[in-house]
Amino acid sequence: MANIEAKYKEIRKSIPDSVTIVAAAKARTVEEIKEAIDAGIEVIGENYVQEAEKIINVLGNQSKWHMIGHLQRNKVKKAVQLFDMLETLDSWRLAELIDRQCAAIGKTMSVLVEINSGREASKTGVLPDEVDSLIRKLAGLRHISVQGVMTMGPRFGKPEDAIPFFRETKAIFDRIAAAQIPNIEMRYLSMGMSNSYEVAIEEGSNMIRIGTILFGERNY
Ligand SMILES: *Cc1c(COP(=O)(O)O)cnc(C)c1O
Repeated sequence: MANIEAKYKEIRKSIPDSVTIVAAAKARTVEEIKEAIDAGIEVIGENYVQEAEKIINVLGNQSKWHMIGHLQRNKVKKAVQLFDMLETLDSWRLAELIDRQCAAIGKTMSVLVEINSGREASKTGVLPDEVDSLIRKLAGLRHISVQGVMTMGPRFGKPEDAIPFFRETKAIFDRIAAAQIPNIEMRYLSMGMSNSYEVAIEEGSNMIRIGTILFGERNY
């Protein structure tokens, strides 16, 4: 019980106040997520819309909710109702659909554009060379508010292995911020997970998504 709270406090103390902690809650029970919220976690990150719906129905107004998993087109309608932010916007097609579904319910959706900084064919996210043009197009959508960018980077290996990917993502973040595109804010740079959040913060991250070190190993 006290474990999640102790872990959270320890991490919170060790990083700057300006960094938002997103608890990556896939495969966790309602009870575990409730513990994280009670411990003071600012945001809960969910990977699957259906799993999120069950949990948000119970704990909804006690936290902010971010979609951090790949968003399927057939889940957009539900997702825009449930989430405060979608961190994984990665195509114009998806953006148009989000915009349309938000228009229907009178909501403006905060989004981060997911960057495939590793240029891995198997990964989701926009290729670094295509981010600028996508974001310029997104500026025209009235029900989407771009708030920054997100990247996964490599999942395994040494934390330092992620540095080139974090650096490239930060460079894109800075470049788009400097371009001062109307309707586009570069407020959040979401990168860093349990094994890499410290280097991610050193490289400029102000939003980390951590699961394992908060909750313990996942047993699927
Ligand atoms: C699971 C997950 C995380 C957290 O991973 P941990 O290694 O458990 O900290 C972060 N981001 C995304 C998108 C995830 O799916």
